[in-house]
Amino acid sequence: MQTLPWQNELLDSFTQPEDLLDYLALPSDGLARYEASERFPFRVTRSYASRMEQGNIEDPLLRQVLPLTEEMTYHPDYLADPVGDREAIAAPGVLYKYRGRALLITTGSCAINCRFCFRREFPYHQSQLTKQRENEGLAYIANDSTIREVILSGGDPLVLRDERLNVLLQKIAAIPHVARVRIHTRLPIVLPSRITAKFTQCLTRTQLQIVMVIHANHANEFDDKVRAGLAELRRAGATLLNQSVLLKGVNDRTQTLMELSEALLQAGVLPYYLHLLDKASGTAHFDVPLQEAALLHRALRERLPGYLVPRLVREQAGAPYKIMV
Ligand SMILES: *Cc1c(COP(=O)(O)O)cnc(C)c1O
Ligand code: SF4
Repeated sequence: MQTLPWQNELLDSFTQPEDLLDYLALPSDGLARYEASERFPFRVTRSYASRMEQGNIEDPLLRQVLPLTEEMTYHPDYLADPVGDREAIAAPGVLYKYRGRALLITTGSCAINCRFCFRREFPYHQSQLTKQRENEGLAYIANDSTIREVILSGGDPLVLRDERLNVLLQKIAAIPHVARVRIHTRLPIVLPSRITAKFTQCLTRTQLQIVMVIHANHANEFDDKVRAGLAELRRAGATLLNQSVLLKGVNDRTQTLMELSEALLQAGVLPYYLHLLDKASGTAHFDVPLQEAALLHRALRERLPGYLVPRLVREQAGAPYKIMV
């Protein structure tokens, strides 16, 4: 199979913290980073790294990806599966938690590995929707006529090739009760070259309504290429929403969250959710306490038009919806 330019870019990603630190003119110090990145591999695209500030160890983009010693600290409230994903596995590659919506774990791969990821320890090898399991997973959805929406998640569904996504969309479109597909992806942010004409054709060809939820956490994540890619997605008819995670040292200030909302709107994306951190083991150093989160959210409501204020939510295992804070 021919390797596409965006796939080459993926292959060219940073996979060693030392290399990224070198690139940013930062001293490559703590050996402890290796321990942390053995537990959850290190991976960052060059495109994303190019938006980090040289020489700044506190850069908000760097902080999202840099393994720290703190990850190795055990904390009893932080779990391997903080949101009850394993309980929600309904069929091969299918999570079913909320009425009317089924979520497909399309792949375990991502273009970057975010240190705060709640699926850091998800058993992808047993539970992702491989090509072989695709029909089994889709049969589950075809059998439940209450499912109106299929969510492509992972990992990141956009690391899959267009051919595979196309087939998946066609098979979903053939299920009469499914009206729309929602794609949760970080690639428009971390690998904008992924948004090719061939990909946007997949979106325009399908009868399904397409909603894309991108994951941006900071205004610095936007540059001209990111905005151009998002404009292409809108041209293809996709509704664009954003979800972020509230992260200590990344976006836990009113000003930063306001700038994020403004940057999103400028790129044609509306804020959807601002998630409290899911307490996955190794992520405690990112936690913003509930009280503080509520104050930040109130400050946003006082300063921004309603449509630029994301809903502050927390996911609770077993709850029938994401809990509004
Ligand atoms: C978050 C999530 C959804 C979507 O929830 P919305 O509130 O509709 O955004 C659906 N299924 C699963 C398993 C989820 O984790
Ligand atoms: S892109 Fe999403 S799934 Fe992948 S590591 Fe980051 S938070 Fe986790």
